[in-house]
Amino acid sequence: MEKTGNIIELKDVSLVYEDGCKAVDSFNLEVRRGEFVTLLGPSGCGKTTTLRMIAGFSKPTEGDILLNGRSIVDLPPYERPVNTVFQRYALFPHMNIYENIAFGLKQKKTPRDVIDRKVRHVLDLVDLEGFEQRRVNTLSGGQQQRIAIARALVNEPEILLLDEPLGALDLKMRKEMQIELKDMHDKLGITFIYVTHDQEEALTMSDKIVVMNEGRIQQTGTPEDIYNEPINAFVADFIGDSNIFNGIMTGKLKARFCGGEFDCVDDYKEGTHITAVVRPEDVELTEPAKGTIRGTVDSVIFKGVHYEITVLSGRNEIVSQTVRSAQPGDYVGIHVDPDNIHIMMAEDNTNYFFVDINRDYQLEYNGHVLETNLTKIIPASHRTEDGTVLDAGGEAVDPRRVRIRAAIKPGDMEMTDDQEAGLIQGTISNLIYKGDHYSYIIHTELEQDFIVDDEYLWNMDDRVSLLMPEEKMVFSVRKK
Ligand code: ADP
Ligand code: MG
Repeated sequence: MEKTGNIIELKDVSLVYEDGCKAVDSFNLEVRRGEFVTLLGPSGCGKTTTLRMIAGFSKPTEGDILLNGRSIVDLPPYERPVNTVFQRYALFPHMNIYENIAFGLKQKKTPRDVIDRKVRHVLDLVDLEGFEQRRVNTLSGGQQQRIAIARALVNEPEILLLDEPLGALDLKMRKEMQIELKDMHDKLGITFIYVTHDQEEALTMSDKIVVMNEGRIQQTGTPEDIYNEPINAFVADFIGDSNIFNGIMTGKLKARFCGGEFDCVDDYKEGTHITAVVRPEDVELTEPAKGTIRGTVDSVIFKGVHYEITVLSGRNEIVSQTVRSAQPGDYVGIHVDPDNIHIMMAEDNTNYFFVDINRDYQLEYNGHVLETNLTKIIPASHRTEDGTVLDAGGEAVDPRRVRIRAAIKPGDMEMTDDQEAGLIQGTISNLIYKGDHYSYIIHTELEQDFIVDDEYLWNMDDRVSLLMPEEKMVFSVRKK
């Protein structure tokens, strides 16, 4: 056996489903023996598919999977030292707890006394001693999930795969189980590969987090790495509620974003298009004169320990978490310590902007009504006969509580001379030649900068209108 310290390695693994869907794309991952690794990403990003390949239920279309240094892609599931715990407990309802846990061992013709001992041992591990004779339907959700975990552990796997195992539990139960699972991991010393779409769960439990999107690994690192040094806007956005702005380097350690020029500590060449990420806890509200930029307090929400204060500066929205309150309408300055401005090279340069919900519950941007129906964006919402949009709980959607964010890629926007044609007007404040196209920054009348890719050459300070096709916009709901 090769001793690399890695129990599992995925090498350039891809999986394309029969319908052509590339669920996992060029995945490279090393898992060390005994590690608690979490695959984190939105629904549909390929987490389950990855686990299924490790368990042996699916075969990679490309690439290799190594267990202790040896390829296992042709090894059937039951010959892999791996067991899976699913979100749905998948217990046998007609058997009692003992029979549920002993099922696999019985099939392997394990001697009766060994089964007895093992079942008692794992019940002890999941804190359900004496539950042998209970029926499945007399247990709570949390207890059923513990049994499912016991059933996986009784096979003494080297690797336990957990696919959103706490997803069906309520918040309180979930928190308790998080702590127990972590304890169990420490006690057992085996490798856990855990799947969740919940960033907080990932941050609190894992040794290593793999952030995924659309089948690809975005970033791998410790929780601290991922939180403090997100590698791109997707990771920053997914982990915590960051403020994310498009911008440009305007000089040595100087970056322009959000309508102001900020000092920063990341050294990129002047003219580089950047994404600036600022955590809400790092946004300081000051007197107007002392801020790098200024704005008006839009909303203040008490969150128990701190206040969450949203400030509008032009069209830019900045969220601050502070222990000092403020009043809506207050005119304030905004200061961010250079250390707390995290600058990264803009990769896809996606433009993010907020659209309004008007009185008729339509989406509106800069005075233009959009065609997209609000009910398509807010999950489980519907429109009543009088046009009101009600959310999943039957309450009218409240624009003071819910914001709709739109995202559009620079290549999906166009500039035109016809000032009336677009959704918003602005002037070209920067351009860079990128080999086969130009990348422009348009400073708009709402103080927001947009990045637009175009193959044609425009001039600095040209006044343009921005065509932003609605079918290219991706909307998401942001709670206030
Ligand atoms: P996750 O677990 O992160 O929610 P999945 O691994 O289940 O994601 O799915 C990844 C992608 O593969 C999704 O786009 C999903 O629709 C697609 N997919 C999953 N299973 C199948 C399947 N059996 N056939 C075709 N496409 C699938
Ligand atoms: Mg899944």
